[in-house]
Amino acid sequence: MAHDPVETMRKQIDEINLEILALINKRAALVQDLGKEKLKQGINRFDPEREREMLNLLVENNNGPFTDNTIRHLFKQIFQASLDLQKSENKKVLLVSRKKQPEDTVLSIKGVEFGGGEPILIAGPCSVESYEQVRAVAENHVKRGLRVLRGGAFKPRTSPYDFQGLGEEGLKILKRIGDEFNLVTISEIVTPSDLELATQYIDVIQIGARNMQNFELLKAAGRLNHPVLLKRGLSATIEEFIYAAEYILSEGNTQVMLCERGIRTYEKATRNTLDISAVPLLKQETHLPVFVDVTHSTGRRDLLLPTAKAGLAVGADGVMLEVHPDPDVALSDAKQQVNIPQFNEIVDELLASGLYKEAKV
Ligand code: PEP
Ligand code: MN
Repeated sequence: MAHDPVETMRKQIDEINLEILALINKRAALVQDLGKEKLKQGINRFDPEREREMLNLLVENNNGPFTDNTIRHLFKQIFQASLDLQKSENKKVLLVSRKKQPEDTVLSIKGVEFGGGEPILIAGPCSVESYEQVRAVAENHVKRGLRVLRGGAFKPRTSPYDFQGLGEEGLKILKRIGDEFNLVTISEIVTPSDLELATQYIDVIQIGARNMQNFELLKAAGRLNHPVLLKRGLSATIEEFIYAAEYILSEGNTQVMLCERGIRTYEKATRNTLDISAVPLLKQETHLPVFVDVTHSTGRRDLLLPTAKAGLAVGADGVMLEVHPDPDVALSDAKQQVNIPQFNEIVDELLASGLYKEAKV
């Protein structure tokens, strides 16, 4: 029986495909070697002039039936794929990455383990307003076995006419109360030149959402030997968040914790949109402790408990929330802070859920 010409030609095409495959992979392997050599010599990977030369040579030798444009297009795809290959080879493994450090980073501060397996509640008023106000919260902390007290002294407010915080005076109040009740204190710092001073007063420096990409602040925080809690920027992708943390580690400070605090979306029912998937993702991608701020993400008292449960259920190392002795008269975030009895109800519910355990003090 005579051979079907279609079959014969298809066979030939298969053979040519395999030859092209072998050739483009041979080319790719050569490009990889070239990439390594360029890295050694400190030469830039991408050389537009060289690309132009290669395209010209191809077009000069093109006898069709493909048009010159098609040839350019096809080969540009090959060039790009090769460049991508070099890129993934040369991609630096980040210091924050689990690939770099498979085991969890655990921070031990005043005997409290952050990221050590037992979830932690970081709670306190939005702003430090007075010694008495913070003391009322701290007293309740001690009764409830809580060890971590937050309070803003430098407040990054949307309006310049809103309460800007007590500044150093606020840090002094936190220091006094932290010492009095043996609590770990945490407060936001917004200026690089205030960092050193702040380490004398507070146990954890917070870098807030609005400053997540303040690279000078991140670098300065990286030069400290002091724990830092970095919050996710309002519109930051996970990748940007991870790079922001990398800025701190790259300067030498490995005592870094992350906090998902909601991102801006079109949704208006909540203040921000809590990106719950960020928690397991950050736990997978990095070795740093990960927290969830349920107050600033939701902006709603009625959502604090369910989102706190959700955060812990997906593996957060703890939850941040704001509590004020009298939220109605709070100088910031009056709408979303809970009072002490409401806060204690949340703590009770979290204990009852089994997702959180009271610390043995
Ligand atoms: C805060 O925690 O006090 C605060 C201002 O939060 P964020 O930076 O997440 O808005
Ligand atoms: Mn607040």
